[in-house]
Amino acid sequence: METEILIVGAGPSGAAAAVQMCQLGIKDVLLVDRDRFPRNKTCGSGLSPAALHLAEALGIGPELRRRANPVLTVRFVTQSGEELRAPANSAAVILLRKEFDNLLVERARSLGVGFRDGFRVAEALEEDGRVVGVRGFDGTEIRARWTLFADGAPSLFTRDDRERRHIDTLMGWWEGPDFEPGRLDMVFDPELSPLYGWLFPETATRVNIGICIDAQDEYGRKVPRDLRAVFRRFLERHYAKELRSARQVGGWKGHPIVHTTWIANVTRPGALLIGEAARLTHNGTGEGISQAMQSGMYGADAVARVVRGEASEFAAWRGYLRALRKRFTVGFAAGYLLRDMVSNGMLDGLARTYNSASFQRGIHWLVGAAMTGTTTQEAPAAYAAARSESGEPSRTESPMA
Ligand SMILES: Cc1cc2nc3c(=O)[nH]c(=O)nc-3n(C[C@H](O)[C@H](O)[C@H](O)COP(=O)(O)OP(=O)(O)OC[C@H]3O[C@@H](n4cnc5c(N)ncnc54)[C@H](O)[C@@H]3O)c2cc1C
Repeated sequence: METEILIVGAGPSGAAAAVQMCQLGIKDVLLVDRDRFPRNKTCGSGLSPAALHLAEALGIGPELRRRANPVLTVRFVTQSGEELRAPANSAAVILLRKEFDNLLVERARSLGVGFRDGFRVAEALEEDGRVVGVRGFDGTEIRARWTLFADGAPSLFTRDDRERRHIDTLMGWWEGPDFEPGRLDMVFDPELSPLYGWLFPETATRVNIGICIDAQDEYGRKVPRDLRAVFRRFLERHYAKELRSARQVGGWKGHPIVHTTWIANVTRPGALLIGEAARLTHNGTGEGISQAMQSGMYGADAVARVVRGEASEFAAWRGYLRALRKRFTVGFAAGYLLRDMVSNGMLDGLARTYNSASFQRGIHWLVGAAMTGTTTQEAPAAYAAARSESGEPSRTESPMA
């Protein structure tokens, strides 16, 4: 079998690359995956604002908005138990990966991409040091002029021999009446430091709850731990009340999240690595869907330049690496800042300051001064008296104080 472009793995990176390739007018694209679709993927299924923008660019925005559950409130709990709530106004959404990934695959198919699921790739075919396709476990060979490897965290095709830093995760799903609709939690529990546990609202009544924790210590040594026991303690500490009236759906599942700060080794002659196969996840939050889609689109752009004769493969691959570094390096480095803020207590301090009545009075005062152009902030006392008679809170009894 032969194709011009072959993409191995139909997660968000592979499917986004396939869609983008068609949007750029490239024909003869084949997408393969070892699983039968729609398939599930162990994931919090949280789509950040960046992911939502990319979904629009890939043409699945309207369907995503129709199906996804919007996040209305974000609740942070710091290591000392300080709680901070912020309105999210649907800037992020949750959609089960079984549905989200399938949306992208269906979009690719509607644009003419060939899709073969249930095809497990065993190895890359190489000739003179160049990738020229793949061989499946069933012995079938697919030859391609260019191959994109999008096979996720434990990539078979990476040539990156740097230590594989990763985050361990464990998560479960619950159906119940006591979850606040649309509330997303990030709980910076000391046992998970500097990472966190989460609760993501998948529907009005179903949530997924999980933990992520560094698999290695700062010297890169594997930390031995009973992850199930850590998760049990986390649930008991933070969600005992809600879970009493909830029903667990399915079993607990875990999967590693591979990350890097300095992006490297993402190209091979004849091939590119995209998504988590290229270690493109955020080390402070574990977010990887938007990075997967973005890298898939950059990968497609690079291949399109070569196909159209606008650049040599060498120049296009170099451009791909540059685009990734430009887009992600600052954010990935900031992940370590977030980790430091969590472990040295700065996040607790910030939350305490944000929650303090004097800070909020100060902000009110500043905003009031900016809007009125004067330092006169209080209405005459008679207004406050009238409000309290009518049952409304007076200005000095600010609901935020
Ligand atoms: C517990 C957990 C929670 C997470 N929560 C979030 C979250 O809420 N938000 C977020 O943004 N990110 C989250 N992530 C990260 C996110 O899931 C990944 O970074 C993202 O899925 C990477 O996308 P990808 O397309 O690169 O790889 P994947 O989604 O892993 O897709 C890889 C595909 O390749 C296929 N494949 C693998 N090997 C082969 C082979 N040999 N032959 C053929 N096909 C193959 C697989 O079947 C799969 O479909 C989470 C991760 C975990 C583990």
